[in-house]
Amino acid sequence: MKLTLKMKMRSLTRNKEWMLEQSIEAFKACVNDWLSAIAQLGEKPNRGNPHRFAYRRIRDRYPQLHSNVVRDAMNLAIEIYRSWLKNGGEFPEFHSDVIYFKGVDVKIENNGLVVPLMGKRVYLPLYVPKKFRKYLQYKHGRVAIKRIGRDWYAFVSVNVPEKEPIKPIGAIGVDLGYYNLLVASDEKGREVMRVQGDVLIEHKEHLEKLTARRQRRLMKKFGIYAKTNHRDRRFVSDLNHKIAKELVLRARQLNRVIVLENLKGLKSQRRPKPLRKILHRWSYADLISKIVYKAKLYGVPVIFVSPRGTSKTCSNCGYYVRAFKDERVFRCPKCGFIADRDLNAARNIAKKGLEELRKQAFLPALKGEASSPQRR
Ligand SMILES: [Zn+2]
Repeated sequence: MKLTLKMKMRSLTRNKEWMLEQSIEAFKACVNDWLSAIAQLGEKPNRGNPHRFAYRRIRDRYPQLHSNVVRDAMNLAIEIYRSWLKNGGEFPEFHSDVIYFKGVDVKIENNGLVVPLMGKRVYLPLYVPKKFRKYLQYKHGRVAIKRIGRDWYAFVSVNVPEKEPIKPIGAIGVDLGYYNLLVASDEKGREVMRVQGDVLIEHKEHLEKLTARRQRRLMKKFGIYAKTNHRDRRFVSDLNHKIAKELVLRARQLNRVIVLENLKGLKSQRRPKPLRKILHRWSYADLISKIVYKAKLYGVPVIFVSPRGTSKTCSNCGYYVRAFKDERVFRCPKCGFIADRDLNAARNIAKKGLEELRKQAFLPALKGEASSPQRR
C-alpha cells in the first residue's frame, strides 16, 4: 500500500535554500516549455511523441535539472495538457512551487533526503515524526519538495507491506454521530467500542479558555485577534487517528470486517445543541478515510452499506419503527427490545454488512481492500 509522508524540512543553509529556489523556478519553466512544445507538436501527447519532438532541445536548456526531473516535467505537462484538452479554458500555465524526483534518484538517510540539485547531491534535513520512522525503512517512491509559505516540505511516497488479510467470521458495524462520535457493535449487538462526543465539548471548552487568555494578551499588546483553526485541525486529526487505529486493531483481533455507512452528509437531526457550533471542526470524511487506510494496512476488509433505516429498525426483530424520533433509547413496540439508540444502529449496520459479505462470498475472493468505497 502506498502512503505519502509529509515532512517539514529543518532549517536550511542559505546556499541550500538558494539551490532549491533555483531548481523550483527551473522546474516551473521546464514544465511550461514542455506545455508549449506539446502545443507546437499539435498531436495528442502520449509518453513517446513529445519526448521525440523536444527532449534534446529542452534538456539542453535546463542543465541544472537532473535528466529524470526533465522527464518528470514532461509527464506533468502531458497530464496538464490532457486535462486542458478535456476541460477547455485558457491555455494552462504551471506555477506551483514544487519539484519532483524519481525514487531512485533520492536517498533517505540520517533523517533527511539526498537529492540531485544543480548537478550536486545535496542533503536536506527533515523533521521525521516518530510514527513515520517505521515507514521510512521501506522502499520509497517519488519524492516531491514543495514550498508552502516560507517553509519547505518533502512528500515521500513509500510502499508499506499490507498484513495478511483476515478471514472474517462476522462484522463490526460502525455508527457515527455527534452524541457519540462512534459506536461499534457486532451483528449480535455486542458493543465493541464507543467514543463519546464529550471529548469534543471538553476540547472546545479547553480551547475557549486558552483562546480567551491569548486574546486578552494579544489585544492588549497588538490589538489583534487570535486564531485557533490550526490547533483544532491537529486535535481532530490526532483524535481520528487514534479512533481509527483502535477500531481496526479490534476488528483484526475479533476477525471481523468493518462496516461503515455510506454517508452523504450526516442526518441533521442528530446534532445535539452544544455540539452544533463545533461541528465544522469535526471531520467524518477524515475519520472514514483514516479507517479505510488503517484497515488496508492491517488486512481488515471494509464494507460500505446504505444508511437507509439503520436507526429506525429494530436490530433484534427487524421491525421498522416509523415513529422513532432519535431519542437516546430505542424501544421496539413489536418485540419489546430496548437498546441504546446508537448501539441499535451499529448492530443494524453490522447485519447489513454481513448480508453484503455473504453476497460477495459467491464472487471472487474477498480481498483486504475496501469493497466499493462509494463515499463522496
Ligand atoms: Zn423488535
